Amino acid sequence: PISSGARVNSRGESSHDVLMLVNDVSEWRRLERMRSEFVANVSHELKTPIAAIRGFSETLLDGDVDDAAQTKFLRTIYDESMRMGNLVSDLLELSKLEATDSRVDPITVDLLKVVERAFDRLRTVAAKRSIHLELKNAPRVNVWADPDMLLQVFLNLLSNAIHYSSDGSQVTVTWDVLIDRVKVHVRDNGVGIPAESLNRVFERFYRVHKDRSRASGGTGLGLAIVKHIITALGGEVGVDSVEGEGSDFWFTLSRLNANMPRVL
Ligand code: ADP
Repeated sequence: PISSGARVNSRGESSHDVLMLVNDVSEWRRLERMRSEFVANVSHELKTPIAAIRGFSETLLDGDVDDAAQTKFLRTIYDESMRMGNLVSDLLELSKLEATDSRVDPITVDLLKVVERAFDRLRTVAAKRSIHLELKNAPRVNVWADPDMLLQVFLNLLSNAIHYSSDGSQVTVTWDVLIDRVKVHVRDNGVGIPAESLNRVFERFYRVHKDRSRASGGTGLGLAIVKHIITALGGEVGVDSVEGEGSDFWFTLSRLNANMPRVL
């Protein structure tokens, strides 16, 4: 707005230069605030399991605990250390993604093969709660992706679908093949997400179901990782859900190499 008629001060700086500097400073402040919020969140997330591990091991070391309580305390120590491990892996995954954002090197990937690998990894967890993993309307199609990153997307969405569903329910993966892209859905009949939280679940550390997330060793980073990966692959991600009825997490992937001529 100050491009024409910008005033120049005694040091030869125009009001335009000053305005750009102010913009840079406020952008820098915003990034700095985001960074320190992130560090505060991570510290908080680590403090909780550390406090539990310390407290329960102190009690055990003091002795005078019966066998049943001992087992219970050891179980809590084990669960909390698993949660810390998950958090560290997810944080590493996020920072790896941030570092490689512009260097993703997609190749042609058989979508079905990636889903089958994800199902194989989660079958035991699902079976323990009699949850059926199903593939429906899934025609053979190649997508433009990084196979390991895509596997991570499916693992995160499917393990959420399992964790936020009740025993004996069904989780379905399905996709629509469009001209230049594929729209993939991971659907469950679980607890669902209230409307006011729908656009926040992809934020780092945002949780709707705090207790359930904790109980499953959740880190609050799974969906942020999914969004990061899909965005880096040039796709879109979203969720439709009705509280108490279930959720439909979807994402798109390109079918064609952006450098190839498009054959319709
Ligand atoms: P978490 O480790 O807590 O599961 P995510 O980033 O994977 O973290 O998910 C963020 C939040 O979104 C979860 O805490 C949960 O409240 C909600 N959520 C994710 N997936 C589902 C789902 N399939 N059904 C209902 N709620 C979900």
